Amino acid sequence: MTTSTLTDSQRQQLRAQLEQRKEQLLQQLDAVQRDTLDVAKATSQGDAEEPGSPRDQANSMAASMVRDAEAARDHAELVAVRAALERMGDGSYGECLDCGKSVGVPRLLAQPSALRCIACQSKLEARGHR
Ligand SMILES: [Zn+2]
Repeated sequence: MTTSTLTDSQRQQLRAQLEQRKEQLLQQLDAVQRDTLDVAKATSQGDAEEPGSPRDQANSMAASMVRDAEAARDHAELVAVRAALERMGDGSYGECLDCGKSVGVPRLLAQPSALRCIACQSKLEARGHR
């Protein structure tokens, strides 16, 4: 028995974790969307004759930038979670997307949505964060 293969119970456990995470992310993204709509409504209905002070505007701009960054991160994770669930369906879960080697059980247990082995992931991150 090799340590690079998931047992059935580990796979079931990871699938449950991924499903749960997917729901969580969908709810978070939904909340962000509602939030954004509320802000847009408040802005259009709001005091058109009394624009907020520059400080208020800067604050709300910073808040929306933080929200956008969080939403983008949630969305990226959702894409990875969905991809992981799909790969569980077709049996390629646990294989690195780039090199096809095993991602490694400990890595999958720590991060069920991991699609790449550590070597390929760090290569990818080195490229992205240059
Ligand atoms: Zn790899």
